[in-house]
Amino acid sequence: MRFLILSDIHGNIDALDAVLARSPPESYDRLLVLGDLVGYCANPNEVVERIFQLEPDVVIRGNHDKFSAGVTEPDDFRRVAAEAARWTHRALTPENRERVAALPAGPKRVNREIEVCHGAPSDEDTYIADEEDAMRAFEASRRPICFFGHTHVPVAYVQRGSDVAATHPIPGGPDTTVIDVDKKWRYLVNPGSVGQPRDTDSRASYAVYDSRKPSIELRRVPYRIDLAQQRITEVGLPESLAFRLGLGR
Ligand code: ZN
Repeated sequence: MRFLILSDIHGNIDALDAVLARSPPESYDRLLVLGDLVGYCANPNEVVERIFQLEPDVVIRGNHDKFSAGVTEPDDFRRVAAEAARWTHRALTPENRERVAALPAGPKRVNREIEVCHGAPSDEDTYIADEEDAMRAFEASRRPICFFGHTHVPVAYVQRGSDVAATHPIPGGPDTTVIDVDKKWRYLVNPGSVGQPRDTDSRASYAVYDSRKPSIELRRVPYRIDLAQQRITEVGLPESLAFRLGLGR
């Protein structure tokens, strides 16, 4: 079984389409979406519609989905993020706003091997930023493989006994980083962000898990950043949101 794993698309249709061109529907069996479909970039409706067209097996909400759909108030958001959430709330069609508002919270069990969450298995809004956070997340996780998002930084944590080690793809490095999966160990993997990467690599980031090999690939795909930036500027979203796409942070 081949899984395509997407997270933190954030309304960036140019990045999403580049990913889907590289990994079209015939290349995978199941689609898992880890939240934050919208917020930050200029095409939230197109992203929501594209994702629902693809009929994902699992799609959960992220913090930006909650705020943009009006499920909760963006109290703890920074100014620019809150401004983008308010803009997205207005830009979404009533139908798409309802779809986003109805997204379930993680964690979600996908099968006996996999679960997904937006932030962490214990809490959808918690960040897993280092090995210590990963250790706690392994304790809360109920499956051998957990995919998470929220930090916009691709990484694979592997737990061997009491030891946790991290593999970070090299920013600007090869377009594929392969993590071999040993059924004896446990894995906590962030595919990175499709629409707003923050590891100083501006290419769209996502993951593919092939359970037959078994291995997880962390992949990067270049996309038309200039188009995404132009759209952000045109709709009047903060200029800094366009700028950071070019920096990958
Ligand atoms: Zn996000």
